[in-house]
Amino acid sequence: MRLRKTVQRTPIVLVVDDTPANLTLMRNILEPQSYKVLLATSGEKALELLTKVTPDLIMLDIMMPGIDGFETLTRLKKIPSAKDIPVIFVTAKTAVSDIVRGFELGAVDYITKPIQRLEALARTKVHLKIQHLIHIERIQSEQIKAIINNISDCVLVSNKNGAIESVNPATEHLFGYCENILCHKNIAELLDYQGRPTDFIDVLLNHDSGDAWWQHPNGKNVKGKTFPIEINVREMYTHDPCFVIVIQDISLHRHEIDQLHHLTETDPLTNINNRRHFEILFAQSWQHCKRSNQMISVLFLDVDHFKSFNDDYGHQAGDSCLQAIATALFTSLSRGVDSVSRYGGEEFVAILPDTDNAGARKVAQIMLEAIEQLNIPHKHSKYGHITISIGVATCDYDADHTRIKSAKALLKLADKALYDAKAMGRNRVEHL
Ligand code: GH3
Ligand code: MG
Ligand code: MG
Repeated sequence: MRLRKTVQRTPIVLVVDDTPANLTLMRNILEPQSYKVLLATSGEKALELLTKVTPDLIMLDIMMPGIDGFETLTRLKKIPSAKDIPVIFVTAKTAVSDIVRGFELGAVDYITKPIQRLEALARTKVHLKIQHLIHIERIQSEQIKAIINNISDCVLVSNKNGAIESVNPATEHLFGYCENILCHKNIAELLDYQGRPTDFIDVLLNHDSGDAWWQHPNGKNVKGKTFPIEINVREMYTHDPCFVIVIQDISLHRHEIDQLHHLTETDPLTNINNRRHFEILFAQSWQHCKRSNQMISVLFLDVDHFKSFNDDYGHQAGDSCLQAIATALFTSLSRGVDSVSRYGGEEFVAILPDTDNAGARKVAQIMLEAIEQLNIPHKHSKYGHITISIGVATCDYDADHTRIKSAKALLKLADKALYDAKAMGRNRVEHL
């Protein structure tokens, strides 16, 4: 990223000397170099001028009536807008003690009288250049600071043990602590992390190492509330090793993902699992039961004479009927691992992991009765109301693996049992 360029303006040099001839001489040396030259005939006048303008460099005579150069320099260092302007003192005195005193008061250089044109020019150029570089560096660091202070991501700097050294306002805002308190904390305290804080930077840097924390990293605010985050760590190669940690609150993002998942997994009419999600669940349950030597049962369910129900009562009544059936089937399940999905049309399918055939038939019977109890009138049914037929199939993988080789084969058996239930008069459970 490039920072904005700073505009370089004409440098202003203030020359302070009580001898008009010296002022003229300095002006004649500096002005041809495109410097803007301001003149002051005393320390008092120079200080007065400095309340109005901020030159880039000051040439200050030492021996002056009124306040001398040393006193002028002392007072100048107390003016906030002037204290950082480089001062070159100009003196006829060459006693080491005077030169040392000038430096101690904050001057950056000195020129001895009589003034030599080339020397005066060379020193002016060097100090203006240094001043310009300092200015650029200050502006750039202000720009970087402004960027970090204004971004919505949290930016923290920590040492190699995770002790926080500085934070931006977004961090204070997200975690609810002020910077002073944050700078006495370890980064691990802001993250819902159970491990040892001293190892934490290692964990952050080697997050491919499989630490479970990385599956769903969470932050923890001042009230102990946790929230999902995205976190990135970079080592900064400065003289002391330190780390830049960037944290984003992804609560909203996570919520959107959850909503999207819900949409892709749910049948819009009945609000239970759709066919797509059933396929995934069924494959997972099949694998799990196979691995852990558990039985698995499947129920295939179909609404009886539903075509004539639609014909008699209309498609909308048909839709409402399917919704009521889906709810009744769903509430018939009592174990968290069981699931029911809309397979398509007026067909439903239930997966019952770790359930033998007798158990599955019991669940099927409960479902059958739940639909009967809905008591939705159906004049073309011999029962007078809506009913369903259910086919049950079970796989004990150890015993059945030659007969039922796959999840698909198990489903086919349940479908076959359903066919039997239809053939045997409907509103009944048949099994294979
Ligand atoms: P059976 O007892 O042999 O299952 O007879 P059926 O009439 O239920 O079976 P068939 O397959 O002949 O008809 C199924 C009907 O289900 C046809 C279709 O209009 C209806 N159906 C399928 N999906 C929907 C739906 O989303 N809404 C409504 N209202 N009807 C649907
Ligand atoms: Mg059907
Ligand atoms: Mg049907």
